[in-house]
Amino acid sequence: MTASTPASTLTGPRLRVAPSPTGDPHVGTAYMSMFDLAYARQQGGQFVLRIEDTDRKRLVEGAEEQVYDTLHWLGLDWDEGPDKGGPFAPYRQSERLETYQPYVDRLLAEGKAYHCWCSAERLTQMRERQQKLKQATGYDRLCLGKTREERAELPGFTQTPVVRMLVPEDVDLTWDDLVMGRSSAPRPDDQVILKADGFPTYHLAVVVDDHEMGITHVVRGQDWMSSTPKHTLLYQMLGLEPPKFAHMPQLLESGKKKISKRRNPWARLTWFREQGYLPEALVNFLALQCYPPIVEADGSEREIFTFADFTERFQWDKVKRAGAIFNLDKLEWLNGQYIRALDVDDLADRIVAHLRRVGVIEGEPTDEQLALLRAATPLVQERMQLLSEAEGMLAFLLVADEDVLVEDDAVASLKGDPAQVLDAALPALESLDSWAADDIQAALRAAIVDGLGIKPRLAFGPLRVGITGRRVSPPLFESMEILGRESTLARLRSFRATL
Ligand code: GLU
Repeated sequence: MTASTPASTLTGPRLRVAPSPTGDPHVGTAYMSMFDLAYARQQGGQFVLRIEDTDRKRLVEGAEEQVYDTLHWLGLDWDEGPDKGGPFAPYRQSERLETYQPYVDRLLAEGKAYHCWCSAERLTQMRERQQKLKQATGYDRLCLGKTREERAELPGFTQTPVVRMLVPEDVDLTWDDLVMGRSSAPRPDDQVILKADGFPTYHLAVVVDDHEMGITHVVRGQDWMSSTPKHTLLYQMLGLEPPKFAHMPQLLESGKKKISKRRNPWARLTWFREQGYLPEALVNFLALQCYPPIVEADGSEREIFTFADFTERFQWDKVKRAGAIFNLDKLEWLNGQYIRALDVDDLADRIVAHLRRVGVIEGEPTDEQLALLRAATPLVQERMQLLSEAEGMLAFLLVADEDVLVEDDAVASLKGDPAQVLDAALPALESLDSWAADDIQAALRAAIVDGLGIKPRLAFGPLRVGITGRRVSPPLFESMEILGRESTLARLRSFRATL
């Protein structure tokens, strides 16, 4: 046993999140982490990140890094973990193999576990037979009580055995859950705890590590409830105190199915960053999936709250038991609220970071690009729900004048005679002394609306398309001011030439 600090000397609760690095991290990892962290912080305890990589066939390279990146991005930082170390290192299960062996040896010596040499083919045939006879499926204990030699004489023998726990007839299938109350799950068959490759299964590793790492509260999704009796039995067999369990409601898609990375892009944590959600909006949204809004002293309800607000008030008995539908419209609305509440410079920095992440800005932005984006941020702050919308709205500021891409649908949307509009606009702008939005607007109104008698609704479309290449843009006159006289005129002239 590797722990250098006895778990019993710790004070305060210890919670952990234990993702398996099997691909792009699941949004559930963040969902669990936020409850872990809130409770740990509220109670002066610790939050541990453990990597559960015992299923060697499912490992995906880079997935562990993505867990770190996405949780850091969300501000859900851990106190101990593989990248940080801590008193119970290592925190990666594949590096803890010698930790599990003594537990297995003890269970074997006490007759609470046994070797099983059944081949995969035999187990499949057994299951098919049980299904055909409409019997409960489960291991039939062919190997129980047999020596290797005795078993070798029977069919379906393999050389390298697994170890199974012996589930007694009177196994307790119930527990008190912090969220679900008195709970129970079906009786398990004799579970494999040590695989033929020498790696523990999830069930053994999770129990041993939660014990060794002094974990006091296991927070996980309700889909793990069927495993809980296996774990409480292992605790009992090993004479260990089990942690408290909190099984959180599932995140559901609209058909009330559990969300899955296969069907739902938003099950992938990285998706939210790519789409331009703010981490604090996502954390707030995840809390609302199973936690009521904050009730103020005057009885009013507040759905928008910081993680600190949530941490201060969090109570297990307020967590709802039923799963919530993952409502992306609601998340988008929430994100818009957060964007509007940001300080402009902060929003500008996040827009820049987003544009870099998606490659609209390659490498370090130039001072000129930064100045343009900072100046334009107030123009888009009220109009955005997602940072990704900045890509379309502000990209015109980042391209050279000769590279403005005029979109076909933008040209097609222009009514009347755009050439006539531009021919009136260009001299009016060329002779302007001041390049402030108000003066630009006054000059263009005089030239186009008054001069040509074109309705304001139609008057400025050709200018918008010429400058931004798009049908929709931030407010036009402010955009022209920020873009500057020279670029504005250059773009309008070259658009005129194409008409
Ligand atoms: N490794 C498991 C997972 O990937 C952890 C489940 C638990 O929290 O016990 O979700």
